[in-house]
Amino acid sequence: ADILTELRRHIRTVPDWPVPGVQFRDITPLLAEPAAFKLMIDALAARYEAMRPELIAGLEARGFIIGAALAYRLGVGFMPIRKKGKLPHECIEESYLLEYGSATVEAHVDALRPGQRVVLVDDLIASGGTMGAGARLLQRLGAELLECAAVIDLPALRGSQQLREAGLPVFALLEYA
Ligand code: 5GP
Repeated sequence: ADILTELRRHIRTVPDWPVPGVQFRDITPLLAEPAAFKLMIDALAARYEAMRPELIAGLEARGFIIGAALAYRLGVGFMPIRKKGKLPHECIEESYLLEYGSATVEAHVDALRPGQRVVLVDDLIASGGTMGAGARLLQRLGAELLECAAVIDLPALRGSQQLREAGLPVFALLEYA
């Protein structure tokens, strides 16, 4: 619990960004502080070591930072899930609804072997749209999706709840009201 207090101390809240009324939870101060960055990765590694993942999938862009560090720490591979149009090889895509419009994420068709044990990582779950699309991509590729992991959950937005209701295992280190 002390670890979580320490992590929380390095997360900055930026009011009214990117639009009025949103409280953006900014993890850049946490990433900049080596002891806090290490606490965050070690806390995730402690949880996932026992689950024996073979691959960490990270969601662009902050999921790359956390996911890559976690993969390195666990000694497993890293797979990027990117916004549409960024990956060079043949891809499959999943779209999700935004407040206005939609967004699409992609992964390489050969990014994992069917049955491979995968943890999906992002920094934060808000509406759950991004994490849900990433999870569907992994499942379509045949992954054994062990858990959807975030540093921060915003439970009031009910995104993590919807993901769980859709049958996905979801974990977050911290909740912000
Ligand atoms: P969702 O798809 O769950 O609505 O939004 C989550 C995605 O948007 C994540 O990829 C996350 O990086 C980004 N995001 C939305 N709100 C915030 C926020 O307050 N702080 C951070 N760090 N990322 C956010």
